[in-house]
Amino acid sequence: MIKKRVKGDLIVVSGPSGCGKDTICNEIFKIRKNIVKSISMTTRDMRDGEINNKDYYFVTKEEFEEKINDDELLEYAIVHEKDYYGTPKKKVLETLESGFDIVLIIDIQGALQIKEKYPEAVFIFIMPPSIKELKSRLINRKSETKESMLRRFKSMYKEVNEINKYNYVVVNDNLDDSVKTVDAIIESQKSRVDRIEELDINSIEEAIHEELVDL
Ligand code: 5GP
Repeated sequence: MIKKRVKGDLIVVSGPSGCGKDTICNEIFKIRKNIVKSISMTTRDMRDGEINNKDYYFVTKEEFEEKINDDELLEYAIVHEKDYYGTPKKKVLETLESGFDIVLIIDIQGALQIKEKYPEAVFIFIMPPSIKELKSRLINRKSETKESMLRRFKSMYKEVNEINKYNYVVVNDNLDDSVKTVDAIIESQKSRVDRIEELDINSIEEAIHEELVDL
């Protein structure tokens, strides 16, 4: 009568640098089952403590452009006016097919490309509690130069103007609350009418009639 689709959900998470989107998603990966993170490819330099093939696939500009030409990326963009970032296509498609959910933590340019291809994906925008708080989080990271901070603030300008392209906005003023909200958003996708493969209204109607007779 009602058959839920077996495919996983494609979840896109964006938000300005320092808004806490990675921290929220890492908590989600701990508490939810059957969900994985898409590992992006980037041409930016590796930061201290980052691990190649875990945090990102760090590649050269030439290697990245080869992936573009070979159509191996689901989306890609030049982020913060500097480096290429992109989502390897194969992993995403295989994950969804196997019934697992996959989370893409990407910028607005990439999110819009995904929306074109997968309008059924769910788009979540994480907002910092205040811009002042965001600035101090970025300063505390210590990895940002004044120039890179400026580029990140410029990107934020663009992104907040496109917030209405997302389905949900989560203001991250408390990590636990934000994690609960994002978890609830992901869970609620499972009950979306367009996630149901077979909704046989006729047989449901028949069943209602049958039960009515006995009343
Ligand atoms: P960071 O250099 O701080 O690791 O990431 C900078 C920004 O790049 C992140 O805020 C994220 O939005 C974006 N980003 C990371 N991976 C991807 C990707 O695969 N595609 C796109 N379009 N943006 C990405």
